Amino acid sequence: MGAKPGGMKPPTVARGVGFASRRTRSRLVRGLKERGIRNLDVLAAVESVPRHRFVDEALASRAYEDIPLPIGYQQTISQPFIVALMSEKLIAGSAGRKTVLEVGTGCGYQTAILAHLYEWVCSIERIQSLFERAESTLATLRVDNVELRYGDGYDGWKGRSTFDSILLTAAPECIPLTILAQLAPGGCLVAPVGKATDQRLRIVSNRRGRLYDEEAEAVRFVPLVRGISE
Ligand code: SAH
Repeated sequence: MGAKPGGMKPPTVARGVGFASRRTRSRLVRGLKERGIRNLDVLAAVESVPRHRFVDEALASRAYEDIPLPIGYQQTISQPFIVALMSEKLIAGSAGRKTVLEVGTGCGYQTAILAHLYEWVCSIERIQSLFERAESTLATLRVDNVELRYGDGYDGWKGRSTFDSILLTAAPECIPLTILAQLAPGGCLVAPVGKATDQRLRIVSNRRGRLYDEEAEAVRFVPLVRGISE
């Protein structure tokens, strides 16, 4: 359909068929299934969380491609496949689905996915502006089973003893003991671990008070950094 002479151009993206549509999200979910994501709760969560709302407007049209995108402050929103993979491993390894701790809120996308999978999500971010933006995005989307905090995740989450699951979305060279100490018996922790050029996902399970450690896929995450920043 061309523009009428002298009139307004018709919108090129009609409601329901644009980048923000359900259909676009379903295509992403189909891609994740093809890559081996099986957990139906995880797939349903990806289907229902509007990833385009977590990135800059200028990048929104790329939000349903299976790629990481910049969110400012030299940080990124993780690739949907990695978000789905880590969520799947976390659920598979955890006896309970009540509480989860996320270290590295970033833009809050993974937080919103976890909010679909757990009763209560605690998430901590060391960059104040990202923390504030995530808080406002999640409030706008009415995600109300999350508690966000601005602080250093190296110290774990003060005020709560343990979590059923713990997810790190930034990579330490080795997992801080303060965080491991907050893993409940029967719980599972998933984290990218290692130097920037040589990272792997690690899956740590707490079985009756003893920790068991397993290595999985090679990944690439920003580093877990000590201290807070504005
Ligand atoms: N979970 C995000 C990924 C964000 S990138 C997503 O959904 O895509 C990783 C985030 O970890 C960055 O925002 C970074 O600032 C944060 N981070 C790094 N070290 C941290 C620390 N010690 N405590 C809390 N957050 C940290």
